[in-house]
Amino acid sequence: MTSDAASARPDPTAEVVDLCRDLLRIDTTNTGDNDTSVGERRAAEYVAEKLAEVGVESVLHESAPGRANVVARIPGTDPSRGALLVHGHLDVVPADADEWSVHPFSGELRDGYLWGRGAIDMKDFDAMVLAVVRHWQRTGVRPPRDIVLAYTADEEAGSDYGARFLVEHHRDLFDDCTEAIGEVGGFSYSVSDSQRLYLIETAEKGIDWLRLHAKGRPGHGSMMHDDNAVTALAEAVARIGRHRFPVVVTDTVRAFLTEVSDVLGIELDPDDPETAIAKLGPIANIIGATIRNTANPTRLDAGYKDNVIPGRATATIDCRSLPGQSELLERQLRELVGPDIAIEYVQRQPALETTFDGDLVEAMSAALRAEDPGARPVPYMLSGGTDAKAFSQLGIRCFGFAPLQLPADLNFSALFHGIDERVPVDGLQFGVRVLDRFLRTC
Ligand SMILES: [Zn+2]
Repeated sequence: MTSDAASARPDPTAEVVDLCRDLLRIDTTNTGDNDTSVGERRAAEYVAEKLAEVGVESVLHESAPGRANVVARIPGTDPSRGALLVHGHLDVVPADADEWSVHPFSGELRDGYLWGRGAIDMKDFDAMVLAVVRHWQRTGVRPPRDIVLAYTADEEAGSDYGARFLVEHHRDLFDDCTEAIGEVGGFSYSVSDSQRLYLIETAEKGIDWLRLHAKGRPGHGSMMHDDNAVTALAEAVARIGRHRFPVVVTDTVRAFLTEVSDVLGIELDPDDPETAIAKLGPIANIIGATIRNTANPTRLDAGYKDNVIPGRATATIDCRSLPGQSELLERQLRELVGPDIAIEYVQRQPALETTFDGDLVEAMSAALRAEDPGARPVPYMLSGGTDAKAFSQLGIRCFGFAPLQLPADLNFSALFHGIDERVPVDGLQFGVRVLDRFLRTC
């Protein structure tokens, strides 16, 4: 190839910015309701078009009108090996433009950041993967084994129309996938100017969303009344909201805390991990949630008139269970709410945990170290849930690895679903370089 042709080729680290920006400008708000969720189909078509431009065929799988997923396969040099699944969701949580410094769907480039809902969750990674694949297609690079790309809908509302739909209705697409990477991992946490931890997700908590139902005797608000559903519900909600579940340190969290306390020079008391966790600054609230089951009341619903005592009242509790603890958590909750309140599960997905070892982990670590000599990869448990829950049901070993280098002073965890979500452009470009290296050696 002549040097002219080579220089006309877009550099993937430059192209990733345009791709991410384009994706941010497509409003893919997922409200949890098909009638008001928008844009996933447009985003899916955009991805399919960008893949088609470089000769990668993809298929759009629509689970309901407008709820679209895109899946493609990049053939590797060794077809006898199992494929690697690389997945990213295209939907985002809602954003209120009044609260933001820039319009949340403007994809504005300002102060070295790309701003917009989805900038770190997770159109950044969606764009990185596209940039790497487009670069490979243009330059004739083939991965060592098949790579399956899945861009999904509906991750932000439980994945029913996205990853779970694909797993239930198109599982043949993933038949030979043995491992997967997706959000939320591979990001940096600065220890000093020369040393950064990179948190690779090897575990995530289970989702146990439930509704409490209280029943009482309906009546007039002016009279004596001792069987009020609202009162009973409020008491149960308050008991749950104030409860602290016991500390349980799993293998992943123990490995994480050991590494972190070593590198930070913090004393780690195995009986009191909370003291060490409190010193972790911006990630303390994520890590702190991975040493116990949690239950946060999020919604209340009762009544229809100011002077009528309703016969029913309901509350939603967002619970997250440690690996293997979902049943235990249910028993703990039943004890807390007492016999008169009914518990209904609206979403129950298991926690995940895998080990931090093997060739794939080696490849991730090596790619990080090659781009950042001060990198120290560590396993960690995510307090939230991702599409990995659905894909792991197919026996796929899932990791959170969407590499990103972050400025030391950026409160990364606050940007997830937060106001002024943004991604540093140089961090995004770092991610492309790491991903390129990693996928060449996966
Ligand atoms: Zn996400």
